[in-house]
Formats: sequence, C-alpha cells, structure tokens
Amino acid sequence: LEDIQNFEGKYPKQLWYLFLVEMWERFCFYGMRGVLAIFMVDQLLLSDRDANLKYGAIQAFVYAFTFVGGIFADKFLGFKRSLVFGASMMLVGNGLIALSPHDYFYFGIALTIIGTGFFKPNISSMVGDLYKEGDPRRDAGFGMFYSGINVGALLGGILCVYLGKNYSWNYAFAAAATVMAIGLLIFLATKKHIKPIGNSPIEHLPKATRIRSEIFVYVAALASIPLIFLMINNTTYTDYFMYTIGPIALGYFVWQMMQEKESKARQQLIAALIFIVFSIFFFAIFEQAGGSLALFANNNLHDDLFFFNIDPNVVNNGANSLFVIIFSPLLGLLWLAMAKRKSEPNTVIKFALGFVFLGLAYYMFFGTRFFADADGKTSLGVFTLAYLAVTIGELCLSPIGLSMITKLSPKRLGGMMMGLWFLASAYGQYVAGLLGAGMSSPDANASALDKLIAYTDGYQQLAIYSIVAALVLFILSPFVKRLMHGVR
Ligand code: GLN
Repeated sequence: LEDIQNFEGKYPKQLWYLFLVEMWERFCFYGMRGVLAIFMVDQLLLSDRDANLKYGAIQAFVYAFTFVGGIFADKFLGFKRSLVFGASMMLVGNGLIALSPHDYFYFGIALTIIGTGFFKPNISSMVGDLYKEGDPRRDAGFGMFYSGINVGALLGGILCVYLGKNYSWNYAFAAAATVMAIGLLIFLATKKHIKPIGNSPIEHLPKATRIRSEIFVYVAALASIPLIFLMINNTTYTDYFMYTIGPIALGYFVWQMMQEKESKARQQLIAALIFIVFSIFFFAIFEQAGGSLALFANNNLHDDLFFFNIDPNVVNNGANSLFVIIFSPLLGLLWLAMAKRKSEPNTVIKFALGFVFLGLAYYMFFGTRFFADADGKTSLGVFTLAYLAVTIGELCLSPIGLSMITKLSPKRLGGMMMGLWFLASAYGQYVAGLLGAGMSSPDANASALDKLIAYTDGYQQLAIYSIVAALVLFILSPFVKRLMHGVR
C-alpha cells in the first residue's frame, strides 16, 4: 500500500485504471438512463406522466441501493468483489434487455439497480485508498476521476440514444452491456496493481465461512428483485420507500457513529453528514437537467448557438459533461497550485462556492426570459452559459464530496459513508422531480411563453435557495471546520 500511496507526480498510475473502469460503467449507466424514458413511452406505450414517474423512481432506487452496496462491501465483500458483482449484474441486466426488450425490461432494470448499488460507491472508495491521509493531491485525483465519469456519460448518452432511435432498442441496450463488459475486463486485468486495496474485510476468516457470507450477500441482493419490481410498477410505493430509507440510513449511521471510540472520529462523521445533507439540496436543483430543463430546452429555445445550429436538447444533455471534461482537470490544477501556496480553500468553502455558482447559473436560466421573443423562444447561448456555471458549481461540490467522504470516514465505515453520499443523490433526484413538477405550468395547453414564465419563475426561486445555502455554509464554516479536526 505504501508503494502505491508514495507515488510521485500529480496522479498515481492506479488512478488511470479506475478511471477507465468507471468510464465504461458510466457509459453503460448513462446510456441506459438516456434511453429509459423514451423507451418506456415509445415501446411500453406508457404516458409521459407515467414514464416520468417511473424514470424518477428508477433513478432514486439506483442511488438508494448504493447505501446497501456500501454496507455489504464494508462487512463482507470488500470493494473489489462488490465491484465485480455489481458490474456483472449491470452486464446481465442490460444484456437481457438487449435480447428481448419487451420481455425483460423490468427484470433487467432491477438487476441494473442492484448492480449500480454495488459498483458505484465502492469504486469511488477505492480511489480514496490510493492516497495517504493528508495528501494534498487527493481532490485533484477525484477531479480527474470525475472527468472519466463524464467521458463515459457523454459517449453513452450519445451512442445509446442514437442506436435506439435510429436502429433498434436491442442495439442500445447491447451497447450498454458491451461497454460494461469492457469495464469489467479492464478491472479484472488490472486489479493486481491495486493489490492491498479493496480486499474483503473478512479475508482472515476460514475460506468456507467467507464463501458462505459471500453467497448470503448475493442471495440477499437478488432477493430484493421482487421488491424493486413492486416499487417501479407502482410509484406510490416509491414514495413510501423514500420516506423510510432515509430515516433507516440515518439511524444506522448514528448507531455506527456511537461505536466509534474517539470523539474526534465521531465529530468527523457529523461533519461528513452535514456535507451530505447539503448535497441533497444541491442535487435537487442540479437534477432539473433531466426533467424541467429538458422540457424547457424542448419548448423554449432557439436552435442556433453562436454560429451553428444545434438541437437544444443535445446541448441540455451534453454540455454539462463536456464542460466537466474540459474544466475538471483545470480546476484540479488550480487546487494543486493553491495547495502549494497553502491557500487552497477548505472543503466547506468549496461547497459554498458550489452553491454560489449554482445560484449564478439559475439566475442565468431565469435571465433567459429577458431574451425571449413573443413565441416564448429564447437564447440558447445564455442557456449554454448557464450550464457552464452549473458545471463549475458541480466541480466545486461533487468530486470534492467524494474526496471528503474518503477523508472523514474511518476505514471500517468507508463503504457505508460513500453509500450515504450517493443516497443523498437519490433524495436529490427525488426532490428534483417534485420541484420540477411544481414549477411546470399546470395548464397543459399553456402557450410556450406562459411555460417560459412559469419555469423561469421557478428557476429564480431555485437561484435564491442556492444563494441562501451558500450563505448558511459560509456562516457554518468555522463550526464545520472544527468538527473536521484538521482535515481540509
Ligand atoms: N454525475 C456524477 C456521476 O454520475 C455524480 C452523480 C451524483 O452524485 N448524483 O457519478
């Protein structure tokens, strides 16, 4: 482990392996996610409303399962085995849908939900293990990892939607399954290089016991399929699920926290929890991207961006990832340069900046109304600039959040805490849907201009919430810093 953590240069070489594996997984995930709603409307003949509800439920579950995946990794599997299991489930899930989209859709989606739960948090935790405590290069490393996420997200979103719309849905899901297979193979081929990282926590127990507990985890995971089925099929149950999983997770967190002997470790966990709660607010606003902003792009934007013509929905789906890929390494270098001069902002300040940029972005989304013509169509340029601001905000918060979790969590709770971080995203997605629905004009026959007014009113509200959140974070920062005990 020392050999890995004492690397020279900006990034450890093992980061690139994890980067590639996560890139293909996100390709699969965002590819599938990109076709989900369209497929349900076109092929399963669901109404828009039902497709939206199911889409939201699936998104919420995907991220809620990370909590389960994280705990099982901490207790039984370790990060590496969890990752292999998760990747296999995603592969089989998408593969089955590819074989027969109509027969296996829900079953395949259930497998994907379980798979992502076991994969997503645990690969992020492994990135954290590449760094020694206090290594100032950690945030930059997570920034680079985050670029990989977005390369995958961008390519998956484009390719799978293209294949599905122009060729066949079988191909779209087959592409998702194929890239997941590539990711899994890369991981299997390179895992020897990350040797002591991500081993099973029960490695020392007799082999038979280990295998028994592993089988228990796999069976328990698969046994949840009927439950997932039920919830996706009737989204009222999703509401119940969301009402209960959070309190249960919180209870479990408190119980685990109490078992920490040192008060320093307990306080660091509380600091992490404060960040996690703020990330719910962030993602609730950020995730308008998949909902209300997609509709806004569809109804209210011209299709000329400076000198070229482009479908506003392509901008809505792609601009964020593209900006992440460009700006994440730059911001990483900025953090490194500031760290050298001992002026790198602390995590709390970075989170607050995340909200400042988010607020700025939503003021820009609001501001599009001043460029609107009588038909309710407005500037794609301003909209794109707003996405730039959203992305800078995301980069101050999301990769920094992953990094923060690995800094503040004791080793035995690493998986659970990363799961909790993503569970916050589940709530973010869930609340995003509610907010989006609340902002949309209630009259289905409203004119494009009326819709524009309704949405931009909503965006102004969200801008205000963001700025308030930033202020609260600035005010809380001395207190949170104290809880962090020297972790930056
Ligand atoms: N876009 C990032 C990813 O897919 C962050 C997702 C999230 O935390 N909601 O990993």
